[in-house]
Amino acid sequence: MTYKTHIAFAGAISLYPLHQLQLHHYITPAQLPTLLGALALGAVMPDIDHTRSYISNKVPILPYIFAFYTKHRGFTHSLFGLAVVALLLFAIHRFKGVQTATLAAFWFGYLLHIAGDALTLSGIKNFCCDRALYLFPRFLRFRTGSFGELVYFFLFSAAAGYEYLLFFDPTHMPDITRHLHTAIDFFNSLL
Ligand SMILES: [Zn+2]
Repeated sequence: MTYKTHIAFAGAISLYPLHQLQLHHYITPAQLPTLLGALALGAVMPDIDHTRSYISNKVPILPYIFAFYTKHRGFTHSLFGLAVVALLLFAIHRFKGVQTATLAAFWFGYLLHIAGDALTLSGIKNFCCDRALYLFPRFLRFRTGSFGELVYFFLFSAAAGYEYLLFFDPTHMPDITRHLHTAIDFFNSLL
């Protein structure tokens, strides 16, 4: 799955829970851009094990190290990888003081990346204990970069856009560049 479809999928799944969290005052409208930025960043991060992915183009060297040690959709796309990321995020919270909500959004985005790849024909080959992970029956799966993926991309984007307009006050609607800057700032704060 390409990074755009991953972000659209993460948005389509997460906007309703975010709306509920905001409704019950667990998060504030002011937090929303940071949470969406962290979610989007988490949703592209697992492909750091692929030297030609979107996230790999943003981070030098690291993808080559990953690609050397693990195969694509290996460690970073596994239950073990999810647990390691959770531990790393906990350490970031402890030592860098990043808010739990932001880190939870990142982790949820990461989880949704794995779920997204599990919708594709190749699925996640080694998710846990030598078992593959597929979320759809075979006839609903698609090949990465195919026309089928484009259809899913439009469906996820339409759902995410609709939820955004429905659930969030347009006066608080942050524009996309602000989201990206927040994601980049968040990323820089970790380095
Ligand atoms: Zn992936």
